[in-house]
Amino acid sequence: MDQATIRLRADWVIPIAGQPIAGGEVMVEEGRIVEVTPAPSSSAADVLDLGHCALLPGLVNAHTHLDYTVMRGRLEDLSFFPWIRAMVTLKTRLDEDDWLVSARLGAWEAVRSGITTIADATDSGAALDAALDFGLRGIVYQETFGMDESIPVEAIMGDLKQRIEEHRQKAKGSRIQIGVSPHSPYTVRGELFRRLAEYCNSQELPVCIHAAESLDEGRLFRDGSGPIGEMYAERGIAWHPPGATSIAYLDSLGILSDRTLLVHGVQLAAADRKLLQRYDLGWVHCPKSNAKLGVGAALFGLLEGCYDSDKARVGLGSDSVASNNTMDLFEEMRFAVLLARAQGRRVDLMTARRMLETATIGGARCLHLEPEIGTLEPGKRADICAVRLDGSHIVPVNDPVAALVYSCRAGDVRLTMVEGEILYDGEKVTGVNEAELYRQAEAVMKKLQGESSL
Ligand SMILES: [Zn+2]
Repeated sequence: MDQATIRLRADWVIPIAGQPIAGGEVMVEEGRIVEVTPAPSSSAADVLDLGHCALLPGLVNAHTHLDYTVMRGRLEDLSFFPWIRAMVTLKTRLDEDDWLVSARLGAWEAVRSGITTIADATDSGAALDAALDFGLRGIVYQETFGMDESIPVEAIMGDLKQRIEEHRQKAKGSRIQIGVSPHSPYTVRGELFRRLAEYCNSQELPVCIHAAESLDEGRLFRDGSGPIGEMYAERGIAWHPPGATSIAYLDSLGILSDRTLLVHGVQLAAADRKLLQRYDLGWVHCPKSNAKLGVGAALFGLLEGCYDSDKARVGLGSDSVASNNTMDLFEEMRFAVLLARAQGRRVDLMTARRMLETATIGGARCLHLEPEIGTLEPGKRADICAVRLDGSHIVPVNDPVAALVYSCRAGDVRLTMVEGEILYDGEKVTGVNEAELYRQAEAVMKKLQGESSL
């Protein structure tokens, strides 16, 4: 078979850009889609017939932290702020090699789950190595923190700029772009946000911020009360509550633009929604993580004109598996539809089709990658996944989109392809010693367990 040309055939092709095609075929040449058609009857030598599968665009996981994969199951049943503090403590136990193992474990899960693009926030930087190594597409955002005024802004910025340059060199010519993630409005001080805004604007860098996530965050910005304010007082961090929402506060610091990706947005006031619309911000919905940490549920489908349109820059994210616990966007889609309907007590608030769009082209729009990915259309990159539709939990299939959203799971993925390159063939991940990775991950997990009181 000529590796440069391949025709993928399956019972269903879901282009997203149009109606599902029964018995369809996607022709790939030199890493791009050249044709999407009903399959011709005669077979050809370069056909990969996937049988009882649906072919769809590779899933876009618009918010991940590959770094934290090894913490899966390690921070259970904690509410939001104790969870974050426990994670900060656990992080101190891992070294550079451990982070790489953890991030590779996450990339492994992504590829096996039909995810072809990620938007990852990394503190250690290991997520970049893992994403490059596994052949994923997307944006890796270098995280930065800094509430403690004993560390000068100049020092933080110097360190960040150096890391960004190193990352850019490493990612040159790859499928990964580099961005910056000021972690959140309560872990990065205002002065640092202003400097980051200048830097990111001058370099046109993508920016990712966790914001409007918990009620604790809201209290801190409103009047300084709550556990985050108490922690500041304990640590001697000066805090003057702005008496506004965290989104309005971020706006005042100049960090919001159409290059900004807002993660969570659970607690959005009406004025916040207007701001987000004005800036045409990308927004990532992480419903399982938000529910598991008990912070609430973002109003996807109920945002009154903001993120409701078919062209909205809204994506779906698993967040880290330390708060999820799986990187399974099928389960995430299902949860998001059911949640929206339960919140609004209306079925028409969210449909399976709209949710599948959110996990593909919506995520692509969030990252400004929609000209290249997110649908199966001629000219786009051949980022594709195939999902088995013949499992006992799926058959019979009347509507393939409903089957994908309401019945399928990550384990049903049969093929993951990025730019025409098969990363996962339904058996194994290309070029990865999976048994060795599993063994390494077990060792890091044991290290995390060591002398733990968490
Ligand atoms: Zn996150």
